[in-house]
Amino acid sequence: MSSSLLLNVLNETCKFRLEPEERQVAILEELFRAYSEMVKACLDKAMHLGVTSRKRLHEAAYKELRAKYLEYPSHYIYTAITQALAIFKSYRGLFRKRNVISPPRVESLNTILLDDTHLFWFGWGSLKLATHRGHIVIPFKVHEHSKKFLNWQVKGSRLVRRKGNFFLHVTFRKIVEEKKPEGVLGIDVNEKSIDLAVVKPDSVMFIKIDVSEAKYIRDRYFKKRKNIQSKTSGEMKAKLLTKYSGRERSRVSDILHRASKIVASIVAKENVKPVMEKLTNIRERIQYGRKMNRRLHSMPFRKVQSYIAYKSMEQGFKPEHVKARNTSRTCPICGELNKPNGYVFKCRACGFQADRHLVAAWNIAAKLSMWGALPLPPKAAHEAFKAEVERIVIKLLSDNGCLIAQRTYRTCPSSRIC
Ligand SMILES: [Zn+2]
Repeated sequence: MSSSLLLNVLNETCKFRLEPEERQVAILEELFRAYSEMVKACLDKAMHLGVTSRKRLHEAAYKELRAKYLEYPSHYIYTAITQALAIFKSYRGLFRKRNVISPPRVESLNTILLDDTHLFWFGWGSLKLATHRGHIVIPFKVHEHSKKFLNWQVKGSRLVRRKGNFFLHVTFRKIVEEKKPEGVLGIDVNEKSIDLAVVKPDSVMFIKIDVSEAKYIRDRYFKKRKNIQSKTSGEMKAKLLTKYSGRERSRVSDILHRASKIVASIVAKENVKPVMEKLTNIRERIQYGRKMNRRLHSMPFRKVQSYIAYKSMEQGFKPEHVKARNTSRTCPICGELNKPNGYVFKCRACGFQADRHLVAAWNIAAKLSMWGALPLPPKAAHEAFKAEVERIVIKLLSDNGCLIAQRTYRTCPSSRIC
């Protein structure tokens, strides 16, 4: 490993509701109107010329807009160009996929992009904004959740208008120094559990986080949606569907957040570098069948991985991703390739038996080449599987949406999933 300092950059967005005076509301409305026009003009130019380069669009649009909006700070034109390019590029991407979509139209934008140095100055409790009427200072309330960002850097932000209210979406940035790990944490994400192997030079430890609650919620809401689809119609149907899918999403993501928080706390406590599978492999591993599509959606693997990645980086450990080839088939003791068969991994060569997902987690950890010495010497390996598995179950308390994480019981890793 190189000795140079590694840094992880964390970005997070936090929303504040602005409390402008009446006079300031009028200024903001004027600003939104002018900014929409700027973006519209830039977008028209970009589409007309087929330009996706910042530099070229700037050359084509800046002068004219500067002359027209002389009283506005010039950096609004810069960010209008950025926003117009983003709209144009996403339209072009979609158009290439299926060329039936109508061209983008900007009538009244509800978002203004603010760059990080020229258009706004963030204070805890007030926003100083550069406008065509000079600098205005708009107060807002600091909420509890935002206090976490007190010592973070303020990066670009967005001014958002919604139903007559104005919000500031601030992007905060923190640079976290990468810590030196003592070992590796193999993470195997499954439909019903997140399986962990804490692998250190002289020990292995297993933890199973049970997230089957997320799958049950998915199944329950799937049935509910099917019911709604067959028994209601029109506006009622749309309303109910939106209501239930929103509730489902938020409950599932609560569970996954909770689980990834636990993973990150293990990362921090054990001082280990997280290792996960590259996502393309997960799809291969789930056996194809009639229900495949729904099964793939019943566990949003990408989401879980990104939650775990982010929360681990906050702790100073950036995850690695390895190819998952054979992770659920290789015997961690003798290296034999076995046919996967049910929940229990059985090695036909050496007779070794263990929970399939825990074996996969260990194999994932072992794939990280910097710890090339793995698998462990056989003695340590046998010790490891004689040890106990800590099991953490995440459950919803009744229907009020409250989450609890129970550390219920310990089981032997060689036994069937319990
Ligand atoms: Zn074996």
